[in-house]
Amino acid sequence: AAGLLSGKRGLIMGVANNRSIAWGIAKSARLHGAELAFTYQGDALKKRVEPLASELGGHVVGHCDVTDAASLDAVFAETERLWGGLDFVVHAIAFSDKDELTGRYVDTSEANFTKSLLISCYSFTAVAQRAEKLMGKGGSLLTLTYYGAEKWMPHYNVMGVAKAALEASVRYLAADLGPQGIRVNAISAGPIKTLAASGIGDFRYILKWNEYNSPLRRTVTIDEVGETAAYLVSDMSRGMTGEILHVDAGYHVVGMKNPEAPDL
Ligand code: NAD
Repeated sequence: AAGLLSGKRGLIMGVANNRSIAWGIAKSARLHGAELAFTYQGDALKKRVEPLASELGGHVVGHCDVTDAASLDAVFAETERLWGGLDFVVHAIAFSDKDELTGRYVDTSEANFTKSLLISCYSFTAVAQRAEKLMGKGGSLLTLTYYGAEKWMPHYNVMGVAKAALEASVRYLAADLGPQGIRVNAISAGPIKTLAASGIGDFRYILKWNEYNSPLRRTVTIDEVGETAAYLVSDMSRGMTGEILHVDAGYHVVGMKNPEAPDL
């Protein structure tokens, strides 16, 4: 039987290691039959991404730092050379100076605000501009967000503001690209211990809090995010665009601490 994603070609941006959410998504997409290409950020990550890509029979289309437009152009040019077109892109990229992922949001510097919004929000639009040209037959763009966009969370600070802007850009991009059959959605993932997450103050506490208070009484895995991502980049979700889907063990519906939860 044909897989959910057989015949689809997807570009995966944001694998740092085998704990990355982008890696969970890549594994699911491959399991369901997609052909994959990967970017990496800098030589240090090249060494990690190359073996992971080959594990899934995927291609590596080069270095991409989203603050460098030429490197973005280069990986899309390479993808075009490779496939001539593109069916989906996974954008799993975010950054803030670690020193500002603790303490108060009000103390955010202009320099880190600008850099965080550029890397964590604008880069998705920059990706959409380039992907559009390769998606003549339509396609699906997917990004990753967090509940800290909707509600205050301790330590999340400027990243919460960046994610709110990213979620708004999902809606604007969906409206702009919908007429060409390009869908734009996001997954709002619950907390998962990754390299990026380890920069957030008291992350262990946040994980425990979610485990005790989410409806499913646990946190989620990169494989679970991956399965929902496979759905969002597949034709099964063809009627959906501009959507933010929560994959968070239900935490976003909770309004108050679980009275049975142990003290933290
Ligand atoms: P990760 O550290 O594995 O991945 C982050 C990726 O961002 C890395 O591959 C890194 O190379 C890339 N990146 C950072 N700056 C970049 C730049 N200038 N150019 C190109 N790439 C750059 O961590 P992750 O948790 O898998 O993060 C992936 C996405 O998921 C992020 O958008 C993150 O905000 C989001 N997210 C994470 C969680 C969580 O708890 N881990 C929850 C919700 C959403």
